[in-house]
Amino acid sequence: MLSGLPKTVDLYRLAMAGETHVGRVKQSVFKRLVSAAHGAERWVDVSLQFGMEQGVHYLRGGLTSEFTVICQRCMNPMEVLVDTRFLFGFVRNKEEESRLPEQFEPLWVEQMETDLLSVIEDELLLAMPMVALHPSAECPAWKDSTVVNEQAESDRATPFSVLAALTRDKH
Ligand SMILES: [Zn+2]
Repeated sequence: MLSGLPKTVDLYRLAMAGETHVGRVKQSVFKRLVSAAHGAERWVDVSLQFGMEQGVHYLRGGLTSEFTVICQRCMNPMEVLVDTRFLFGFVRNKEEESRLPEQFEPLWVEQMETDLLSVIEDELLLAMPMVALHPSAECPAWKDSTVVNEQAESDRATPFSVLAALTRDKH
């Protein structure tokens, strides 16, 4: 899977060993992501670097992948590039969380073994656009919505036209 990493790992042990893992994971492995995306046949480039700094066990990582999602304006498939970085500091209780230096995002480690792919999947889901839209020039539905906007614009202008007509009548 990921340079021989097992499905669940002891994050603290990896941090103490200062391990680095670089590899690719099939998108289809991430079940929640598969339902959020429109097809998931490509790869996610994953880089993970474990270590210790300022007494904090951490995981620094980067995830890059292209997903096909549905444009919410024209309902056609479109590509989005997800390219995200994170720096997690592991915490086991509130006290550790409160002492965590601010450059770290807390990652709660409640069991000896953590499902690393689930952590990665959470990050990918966070990095996915909430509402995907083509850039306006590339979206077939954009022209239509522009017409609608112009219509709304001329509706809004109506009171001013009336006012202008009234002013004209005074002279
Ligand atoms: Zn579109």
